[in-house]
Amino acid sequence: MNKKCDIIRDLLPSYIEKVTSDESNKFVEEHIAQCESCEIYLNDMKAEIELPEDVHIEERLNEKKPFKNLSIFSQGQKKFTKLILYIAVGSLLLAIYLLSTSILKFNEFKEDKRYIDVIELEKEAIISDAFNHVDSGEAGLIKVFEKYKKQLNMLAIFPTAEVEDELIDTERNMPTTMYPIDYNKATTVIGANGVIKDKSTITPSGYDLGTVVMANDEWVIQFEYRGTYENTIEKYHQLRYYGPRTWSFFQLPILFFTIFIVLGTVWFFMNKQNRQLQGVI
Ligand SMILES: [Zn+2]
Repeated sequence: MNKKCDIIRDLLPSYIEKVTSDESNKFVEEHIAQCESCEIYLNDMKAEIELPEDVHIEERLNEKKPFKNLSIFSQGQKKFTKLILYIAVGSLLLAIYLLSTSILKFNEFKEDKRYIDVIELEKEAIISDAFNHVDSGEAGLIKVFEKYKKQLNMLAIFPTAEVEDELIDTERNMPTTMYPIDYNKATTVIGANGVIKDKSTITPSGYDLGTVVMANDEWVIQFEYRGTYENTIEKYHQLRYYGPRTWSFFQLPILFFTIFIVLGTVWFFMNKQNRQLQGVI
């Protein structure tokens, strides 16, 4: 045994554990090939370190490792799947709640909308009644006013020939919206106290929506709604032209139902996958 053998034997434990450099390996292997005593030393050392049982355990551990990782993954995925289920169920409950409140709101809106038609029909009834009674003179018109006194502030009749200019915007040759027509030109004006004799005392309503004008060949009818009724007219006018669309009431419930369906589907497939994974482990 020389000095080189000492160096080699110092290196052998590291060599067996395969932590030596390529250069050292070459150095060891070259020496072992020539030195029988070091070769025996190496084999003894190997036998001592690499017990067959240890190898066996290590092998078994290595075999189990991927399943262990799979198991951790499966646990995580199960938790995630549960979370998705909770959110899906939460969305469903929220959608049901929102749907019920939306239905209530929508019914109120529908009731209001129905009233738009009532107001519209009422307007047409006033116009048609006035036209039907215009030939029977003041008495007929007073009857009409009495019938609608809850809604009316003023009812006036003009000869069409007299006010044609006011009905048509002469510059653009189109019907004008410059209401009301000057009451001084009226044949008859009915107010709350009957026929108004001195037409110059009338203060016309400046409110566009509160005045209605309708003409046939012979007569022009103009009526103004009462101030208290104007608010109603205004409300339903707003509702008719700027009111919400039907579907807008159901936007939120639809959104949450969609979330529920999407998450529910995701949950279904993840749950299925989890079961399959469970089978493998
Ligand atoms: Zn040696």
